[in-house]
Amino acid sequence: MKIIFEPARRVKELPPYLFLEIDRAKRAAREKGADIIDFGIGDPDQPTPSFVVEAFDRAVKDPSTHRYPLDSGRREFREAVAAWYLERFLVKLDPDTEILPLIGSKEGLTHLPLAFVNPGDKALVPDPAYPAYARAVGFAGGKPVAYALREELRFLPDWTELMKARHAGTKLMYFNYPNNPTGAVAGPDTFDKAVRFGKKHRILMCHDNAYSEVYFGHEKPASFLQSDGAKSVGLEFHSLSKTFNMTGWRLGFACGNADAIAALAKVKSNIDSGVFSAIQLAGADALKRTAEFTSKTNAMYVKRRNVLIAGLKSLGWNVTAPEATFYVWCRLPKGHTSSIAFSKHLLEKAAIVCTPGVGFGKFGEGYARFTLTVPEDRIKMAIERLKKVL
Ligand code: PMP
Repeated sequence: MKIIFEPARRVKELPPYLFLEIDRAKRAAREKGADIIDFGIGDPDQPTPSFVVEAFDRAVKDPSTHRYPLDSGRREFREAVAAWYLERFLVKLDPDTEILPLIGSKEGLTHLPLAFVNPGDKALVPDPAYPAYARAVGFAGGKPVAYALREELRFLPDWTELMKARHAGTKLMYFNYPNNPTGAVAGPDTFDKAVRFGKKHRILMCHDNAYSEVYFGHEKPASFLQSDGAKSVGLEFHSLSKTFNMTGWRLGFACGNADAIAALAKVKSNIDSGVFSAIQLAGADALKRTAEFTSKTNAMYVKRRNVLIAGLKSLGWNVTAPEATFYVWCRLPKGHTSSIAFSKHLLEKAAIVCTPGVGFGKFGEGYARFTLTVPEDRIKMAIERLKKVL
Protein backbone atom coordinates (compact mmCIF):
# COMPACT_ATOMS: atom_id res chain seq x y z
CA MET A 1 0.00 0.00 0.00
CA LYS A 2 1.41 3.39 -1.01
CA ILE A 3 1.38 5.95 1.78
CA ILE A 4 0.70 9.50 0.65
CA PHE A 5 2.81 12.02 2.52
CA GLU A 6 1.05 15.31 2.21
CA PRO A 7 3.53 18.13 1.50
CA ALA A 8 3.19 21.26 3.62
CA ARG A 9 1.08 24.12 2.27
CA ARG A 10 4.22 26.18 1.71
CA VAL A 11 5.30 23.58 -0.84
CA LYS A 12 1.90 22.71 -2.28
CA GLU A 13 1.06 26.35 -2.85
CA LEU A 14 4.25 27.09 -4.76
CA PRO A 15 3.55 28.15 -8.33
CA PRO A 16 5.15 25.83 -10.87
CA TYR A 17 8.81 26.74 -11.35
CA LEU A 18 8.73 28.00 -14.91
CA PHE A 19 12.43 27.31 -15.49
CA LEU A 20 11.92 23.62 -14.72
CA GLU A 21 9.04 23.51 -17.17
CA ILE A 22 11.18 25.11 -19.85
CA ASP A 23 13.88 22.59 -19.09
CA ARG A 24 11.42 19.75 -19.54
CA ALA A 25 10.22 21.10 -22.90
CA LYS A 26 13.84 21.59 -23.94
CA ARG A 27 14.79 18.03 -23.04
CA ALA A 28 11.77 16.63 -24.85
CA ALA A 29 12.74 18.57 -28.00
CA ARG A 30 16.35 17.35 -27.68
CA GLU A 31 15.20 13.75 -27.36
CA LYS A 32 13.37 14.20 -30.65
CA GLY A 33 16.70 15.20 -32.17
CA ALA A 34 16.43 19.01 -32.15
CA ASP A 35 19.71 20.97 -32.05
CA ILE A 36 18.69 23.43 -29.34
CA ILE A 37 20.32 26.86 -29.05
CA ASP A 38 19.79 27.71 -25.41
CA PHE A 39 19.45 31.37 -24.41
CA GLY A 40 17.52 30.26 -21.32
CA ILE A 41 19.20 29.93 -17.98
CA GLY A 42 21.96 32.34 -16.87
CA ASP A 43 24.79 29.90 -16.31
CA PRO A 44 28.19 30.80 -17.81
CA ASP A 45 29.25 28.35 -20.56
CA GLN A 46 32.98 28.86 -19.91
CA PRO A 47 34.93 26.83 -17.31
CA THR A 48 36.16 28.12 -13.96
CA PRO A 49 39.62 29.66 -14.54
CA SER A 50 42.50 27.25 -13.97
CA PHE A 51 44.11 29.46 -11.31
CA VAL A 52 40.99 28.97 -9.17
CA VAL A 53 40.91 25.21 -9.80
CA GLU A 54 44.60 25.02 -8.86
CA ALA A 55 44.03 27.05 -5.67
CA PHE A 56 41.25 24.62 -4.78
CA ASP A 57 43.53 21.67 -5.51
CA ARG A 58 46.11 23.00 -3.04
CA ALA A 59 43.45 23.81 -0.44
CA VAL A 60 41.72 20.45 -0.61
CA LYS A 61 45.03 18.70 0.19
CA ASP A 62 45.25 20.65 3.46
CA PRO A 63 43.49 18.56 6.14
CA SER A 64 42.44 21.71 8.01
CA THR A 65 39.86 22.22 5.25
CA HIS A 66 38.23 18.82 5.89
CA ARG A 67 36.45 19.67 9.11
CA TYR A 68 33.23 21.62 9.69
CA PRO A 69 33.79 25.16 8.53
CA LEU A 70 33.04 27.74 11.22
CA ASP A 71 29.79 29.73 10.83
CA SER A 72 31.74 32.87 10.13
CA GLY A 73 33.89 31.05 7.59
CA ARG A 74 37.62 31.14 6.89
CA ARG A 75 39.36 34.31 7.91
CA GLU A 76 41.41 34.19 4.68
CA PHE A 77 38.18 34.46 2.67
CA ARG A 78 36.68 37.26 4.77
CA GLU A 79 39.95 39.18 4.57
CA ALA A 80 40.11 38.72 0.80
CA VAL A 81 36.53 40.02 0.55
CA ALA A 82 37.38 43.07 2.69
CA ALA A 83 40.48 43.82 0.57
CA TRP A 84 38.52 43.42 -2.68
CA TYR A 85 35.70 45.65 -1.41
CA LEU A 86 38.08 48.37 -0.40
CA GLU A 87 39.87 48.33 -3.74
CA ARG A 88 36.76 47.95 -5.89
CA PHE A 89 34.24 50.13 -4.03
CA LEU A 90 36.37 52.14 -1.57
CA VAL A 91 34.21 50.74 1.21
CA LYS A 92 35.79 49.46 4.41
CA LEU A 93 34.33 46.28 5.89
CA ASP A 94 35.20 44.62 9.18
CA PRO A 95 36.03 40.99 8.29
CA ASP A 96 34.87 39.84 11.74
CA THR A 97 31.44 41.43 11.94
CA GLU A 98 30.42 42.72 8.53
CA ILE A 99 31.11 39.80 6.16
CA LEU A 100 29.50 36.37 6.05
CA PRO A 101 30.41 33.63 3.52
CA LEU A 102 27.41 32.00 1.83
CA ILE A 103 26.78 28.76 -0.04
CA GLY A 104 26.08 30.89 -3.11
CA SER A 105 24.31 34.22 -2.77
CA LYS A 106 20.93 32.53 -3.32
CA GLU A 107 21.38 30.73 -0.02
CA GLY A 108 21.81 33.98 1.92
CA LEU A 109 19.15 35.88 0.02
CA THR A 110 16.64 33.13 0.74
CA HIS A 111 17.59 32.50 4.37
CA LEU A 112 17.41 36.19 5.23
CA PRO A 113 13.60 36.28 5.69
CA LEU A 114 13.90 33.53 8.33
CA ALA A 115 15.96 36.02 10.33
CA PHE A 116 13.64 39.04 9.95
CA VAL A 117 10.17 38.10 8.71
CA ASN A 118 7.52 36.88 11.14
CA PRO A 119 4.42 35.12 9.79
CA GLY A 120 2.20 37.83 8.34
CA ASP A 121 5.00 40.37 7.88
CA LYS A 122 5.58 41.85 4.44
CA ALA A 123 8.62 42.22 2.21
CA LEU A 124 8.94 44.35 -0.91
CA VAL A 125 10.14 42.43 -3.95
CA PRO A 126 10.77 43.75 -7.47
CA ASP A 127 8.64 42.65 -10.43
CA PRO A 128 10.05 41.45 -12.78
CA ALA A 129 12.71 39.74 -10.65
CA TYR A 130 14.79 36.73 -9.86
CA PRO A 131 11.99 34.52 -8.43
CA ALA A 132 13.92 33.41 -5.31
CA TYR A 133 13.15 36.57 -3.27
CA ALA A 134 9.37 36.15 -3.26
CA ARG A 135 9.59 32.39 -2.66
CA ALA A 136 11.85 32.91 0.36
CA VAL A 137 9.51 35.47 1.91
CA GLY A 138 6.66 32.98 1.47
CA PHE A 139 8.68 30.17 3.07
CA ALA A 140 9.12 32.34 6.17
CA GLY A 141 5.33 32.83 6.33
CA GLY A 142 5.58 36.40 5.07
CA LYS A 143 3.79 38.13 2.25
CA PRO A 144 5.83 39.29 -0.75
CA VAL A 145 4.57 42.66 -1.98
CA ALA A 146 5.61 43.36 -5.56
CA TYR A 147 6.79 46.77 -6.72
CA ALA A 148 6.92 47.32 -10.45
CA LEU A 149 10.08 47.94 -12.45
CA ARG A 150 8.91 49.88 -15.49
CA GLU A 151 10.72 50.56 -18.71
CA GLU A 152 9.77 54.27 -18.52
CA LEU A 153 11.86 54.49 -15.33
CA ARG A 154 14.70 52.44 -16.85
CA PHE A 155 13.57 49.54 -14.64
CA LEU A 156 14.55 51.41 -11.46
CA PRO A 157 12.26 51.41 -8.41
CA ASP A 158 9.68 54.20 -8.45
CA TRP A 159 10.95 55.82 -5.25
CA THR A 160 8.36 58.61 -5.35
CA GLU A 161 5.55 56.07 -5.28
CA LEU A 162 7.33 53.88 -2.72
CA MET A 163 8.10 56.84 -0.43
CA LYS A 164 4.46 57.94 -0.43
CA ALA A 165 2.94 54.50 0.24
CA ARG A 166 2.33 53.11 3.72
CA HIS A 167 4.58 50.22 4.68
CA ALA A 168 3.26 49.09 8.07
CA GLY A 169 4.43 45.54 8.78
CA THR A 170 7.07 45.63 6.01
CA LYS A 171 10.40 44.29 7.21
CA LEU A 172 12.56 43.88 4.12
CA MET A 173 13.05 45.25 0.65
CA TYR A 174 14.97 43.41 -2.06
CA PHE A 175 16.54 45.30 -4.95
CA ASN A 176 19.03 44.16 -7.57
CA TYR A 177 21.36 46.17 -9.87
CA PRO A 178 22.84 45.32 -12.32
CA ASN A 179 19.44 43.73 -12.71
CA ASN A 180 18.27 40.29 -13.67
CA PRO A 181 16.24 40.05 -15.92
CA THR A 182 16.23 43.61 -17.34
CA GLY A 183 19.99 44.28 -17.50
CA ALA A 184 19.33 47.71 -15.93
CA VAL A 185 22.14 49.44 -14.04
CA ALA A 186 21.65 51.76 -11.06
CA GLY A 187 23.82 54.70 -10.10
CA PRO A 188 24.57 56.21 -6.69
CA ASP A 189 21.34 58.23 -6.86
CA THR A 190 19.25 55.04 -6.67
CA PHE A 191 21.27 53.74 -3.75
CA ASP A 192 21.07 57.08 -1.88
CA LYS A 193 17.31 56.93 -2.25
CA ALA A 194 17.32 53.35 -1.01
CA VAL A 195 19.09 54.48 2.16
CA ARG A 196 16.58 57.30 2.69
CA PHE A 197 13.67 54.94 2.08
CA GLY A 198 15.01 52.30 4.46
CA LYS A 199 15.59 54.88 7.18
CA LYS A 200 12.21 56.54 6.80
CA HIS A 201 10.24 53.30 6.88
CA ARG A 202 12.63 51.28 9.09
CA ILE A 203 12.97 48.59 6.45
CA LEU A 204 16.07 46.41 6.08
CA MET A 205 17.36 47.04 2.55
CA CYS A 206 18.81 43.97 0.81
CA HIS A 207 20.78 44.71 -2.30
CA ASP A 208 21.60 41.80 -4.58
CA ASN A 209 24.81 42.66 -6.42
CA ALA A 210 25.42 39.23 -8.00
CA TYR A 211 26.29 40.88 -11.36
CA SER A 212 28.58 43.67 -10.12
CA GLU A 213 31.49 42.35 -12.23
CA VAL A 214 29.64 41.62 -15.47
CA TYR A 215 29.66 45.01 -17.18
CA PHE A 216 30.47 46.45 -20.60
CA GLY A 217 30.68 50.21 -20.20
CA HIS A 218 33.54 52.25 -18.80
CA GLU A 219 31.71 52.80 -15.56
CA LYS A 220 31.83 49.89 -13.17
CA PRO A 221 28.56 49.09 -11.39
CA ALA A 222 28.35 50.64 -7.93
CA SER A 223 27.83 49.10 -4.52
CA PHE A 224 24.84 50.04 -2.37
CA LEU A 225 27.26 50.25 0.57
CA GLN A 226 28.98 53.22 -1.10
CA SER A 227 26.01 55.39 -0.16
CA ASP A 228 26.26 57.32 3.12
CA GLY A 229 24.44 55.50 5.89
CA ALA A 230 23.88 52.30 3.87
CA LYS A 231 25.43 50.11 6.53
CA SER A 232 22.90 51.39 9.05
CA VAL A 233 19.97 50.12 6.95
CA GLY A 234 21.15 47.31 4.81
CA LEU A 235 23.12 44.46 3.41
CA GLU A 236 24.63 43.65 0.07
CA PHE A 237 24.85 40.15 -1.42
CA HIS A 238 27.63 39.11 -3.77
CA SER A 239 28.37 35.98 -5.72
CA LEU A 240 31.47 34.41 -7.22
CA SER A 241 29.22 32.41 -9.56
CA LYS A 242 29.05 34.79 -12.51
CA THR A 243 32.29 36.65 -11.88
CA PHE A 244 34.46 33.51 -12.05
CA ASN A 245 32.24 30.97 -13.86
CA MET A 246 31.77 29.21 -10.53
CA THR A 247 28.02 28.56 -10.42
CA GLY A 248 28.50 24.94 -9.43
CA TRP A 249 30.92 25.65 -6.60
CA ARG A 250 28.37 27.58 -4.51
CA LEU A 251 30.22 30.56 -3.08
CA GLY A 252 29.03 34.05 -2.27
CA PHE A 253 28.89 36.40 0.68
CA ALA A 254 26.74 38.93 2.48
CA CYS A 255 28.19 42.14 3.86
CA GLY A 256 27.09 45.32 5.56
CA ASN A 257 24.99 45.86 8.67
CA ALA A 258 26.64 43.90 11.50
CA ASP A 259 23.39 43.12 13.35
CA ALA A 260 21.79 41.75 10.20
CA ILE A 261 24.92 39.71 9.46
CA ALA A 262 24.77 38.25 12.99
CA ALA A 263 21.07 37.38 12.65
CA LEU A 264 21.64 35.70 9.28
CA ALA A 265 24.63 33.79 10.69
CA LYS A 266 22.42 32.54 13.53
CA VAL A 267 19.85 31.18 11.07
CA LYS A 268 22.56 29.56 9.00
CA SER A 269 24.30 27.96 11.95
CA ASN A 270 21.03 26.14 12.67
CA ILE A 271 20.55 25.01 9.09
CA ASP A 272 23.88 24.49 7.39
CA SER A 273 27.41 24.46 8.66
CA GLY A 274 28.98 26.84 6.21
CA VAL A 275 30.86 26.68 2.92
CA PHE A 276 33.46 23.93 2.37
CA SER A 277 36.71 25.59 3.54
CA ALA A 278 38.68 24.56 0.45
CA ILE A 279 36.13 26.41 -1.70
CA GLN A 280 36.49 29.50 0.49
CA LEU A 281 40.28 29.39 0.11
CA ALA A 282 39.98 29.05 -3.67
CA GLY A 283 37.49 31.96 -3.61
CA ALA A 284 39.99 34.09 -1.69
CA ASP A 285 42.56 33.52 -4.44
CA ALA A 286 39.98 34.23 -7.13
CA LEU A 287 39.04 37.62 -5.64
CA LYS A 288 42.67 38.74 -5.76
CA ARG A 289 42.61 38.44 -9.56
CA THR A 290 39.13 39.76 -10.27
CA ALA A 291 39.93 42.62 -12.64
CA GLU A 292 42.45 40.57 -14.65
CA PHE A 293 39.96 37.73 -15.19
CA THR A 294 36.76 39.71 -15.72
CA SER A 295 38.30 41.99 -18.34
CA LYS A 296 38.63 38.87 -20.53
CA THR A 297 35.17 37.43 -19.87
CA ASN A 298 33.48 40.81 -20.25
CA ALA A 299 35.23 41.33 -23.60
CA MET A 300 33.78 37.98 -24.69
CA TYR A 301 30.25 38.89 -23.52
CA VAL A 302 30.38 42.28 -25.22
CA LYS A 303 31.21 40.64 -28.55
CA ARG A 304 28.35 38.21 -28.12
CA ARG A 305 26.04 41.04 -27.08
CA ASN A 306 26.90 43.04 -30.17
CA VAL A 307 26.33 40.06 -32.48
CA LEU A 308 22.97 39.28 -30.88
CA ILE A 309 21.74 42.88 -30.81
CA ALA A 310 22.85 43.58 -34.41
CA GLY A 311 21.23 40.32 -35.52
CA LEU A 312 17.92 41.00 -33.81
CA LYS A 313 17.89 44.56 -35.14
CA SER A 314 18.52 43.27 -38.67
CA LEU A 315 15.26 41.34 -38.27
CA GLY A 316 13.45 44.59 -37.48
CA TRP A 317 13.33 43.85 -33.77
CA ASN A 318 13.95 47.00 -31.76
CA VAL A 319 16.14 45.84 -28.87
CA THR A 320 18.40 47.72 -26.46
CA ALA A 321 21.94 46.59 -25.63
CA PRO A 322 22.49 46.03 -21.89
CA GLU A 323 25.39 47.84 -20.20
CA ALA A 324 25.80 45.06 -17.62
CA THR A 325 24.71 41.47 -16.82
CA PHE A 326 24.60 38.84 -19.52
CA TYR A 327 20.91 39.37 -20.18
CA VAL A 328 19.19 40.93 -23.16
CA TRP A 329 15.66 41.92 -22.14
CA CYS A 330 13.46 42.75 -25.07
CA ARG A 331 9.89 43.62 -25.78
CA LEU A 332 8.25 40.90 -27.85
CA PRO A 333 8.29 41.62 -31.57
CA LYS A 334 5.18 43.09 -33.18
CA GLY A 335 2.26 40.70 -33.34
CA HIS A 336 3.18 38.81 -30.14
CA THR A 337 1.65 39.53 -26.75
CA SER A 338 2.06 36.38 -24.64
CA SER A 339 5.65 35.71 -23.62
CA ILE A 340 4.93 32.02 -22.97
CA ALA A 341 3.34 31.55 -26.40
CA PHE A 342 6.29 33.40 -27.96
CA SER A 343 8.87 31.20 -26.20
CA LYS A 344 6.98 28.06 -27.24
CA HIS A 345 6.88 29.34 -30.81
CA LEU A 346 10.67 29.82 -30.87
CA LEU A 347 11.29 26.41 -29.33
CA GLU A 348 8.96 24.57 -31.69
CA LYS A 349 9.79 26.41 -34.90
CA ALA A 350 13.46 27.34 -34.44
CA ALA A 351 14.75 25.10 -31.61
CA ILE A 352 15.69 28.27 -29.73
CA VAL A 353 15.16 28.64 -26.00
CA CYS A 354 14.53 32.05 -24.45
CA THR A 355 12.86 32.78 -21.13
CA PRO A 356 9.34 34.22 -21.19
CA GLY A 357 9.24 37.52 -19.30
CA VAL A 358 6.17 36.54 -17.30
CA GLY A 359 8.32 33.96 -15.50
CA PHE A 360 9.85 36.89 -13.63
CA GLY A 361 6.51 38.40 -12.59
CA LYS A 362 3.43 39.92 -14.14
CA PHE A 363 5.27 43.12 -15.13
CA GLY A 364 7.57 40.91 -17.18
CA GLU A 365 4.72 39.97 -19.51
CA GLY A 366 5.31 41.24 -23.02
CA TYR A 367 9.07 40.66 -22.77
CA ALA A 368 11.55 37.84 -23.39
CA ARG A 369 15.02 37.32 -21.94
CA PHE A 370 18.02 36.05 -23.90
CA THR A 371 21.28 35.21 -22.12
CA LEU A 372 24.72 35.81 -23.57
CA THR A 373 26.06 32.48 -22.32
CA VAL A 374 25.98 31.13 -25.89
CA PRO A 375 29.07 31.12 -28.19
CA GLU A 376 29.16 33.66 -31.02
CA ASP A 377 28.81 31.12 -33.85
CA ARG A 378 25.68 29.69 -32.22
CA ILE A 379 24.25 33.22 -31.81
CA LYS A 380 24.77 33.76 -35.54
CA MET A 381 23.08 30.45 -36.28
CA ALA A 382 20.15 31.49 -34.06
CA ILE A 383 19.73 34.72 -36.00
CA GLU A 384 19.57 32.73 -39.26
CA ARG A 385 16.90 30.51 -37.76
CA LEU A 386 14.96 33.49 -36.41
CA LYS A 387 14.91 35.03 -39.91
CA LYS A 388 12.69 32.16 -40.99
CA VAL A 389 10.19 32.29 -38.13
CA LEU A 390 9.80 35.95 -37.15
N1 PMP B 1 20.83 36.92 -7.71
C1 PMP B 1 20.50 36.96 -8.99
C2 PMP B 1 19.86 38.21 -9.52
C3 PMP B 1 20.71 35.87 -9.84
O1 PMP B 1 20.37 35.94 -11.12
C4 PMP B 1 21.31 34.70 -9.28
C5 PMP B 1 21.57 33.47 -10.11
N2 PMP B 1 20.96 33.33 -11.29
C6 PMP B 1 21.63 34.71 -7.94
C7 PMP B 1 21.39 35.83 -7.18
C8 PMP B 1 22.21 33.50 -7.25
O2 PMP B 1 23.51 33.24 -7.57
P1 PMP B 1 24.39 32.24 -6.72
O3 PMP B 1 23.51 31.57 -5.70
O4 PMP B 1 24.96 31.28 -7.68
O5 PMP B 1 25.43 33.09 -6.04
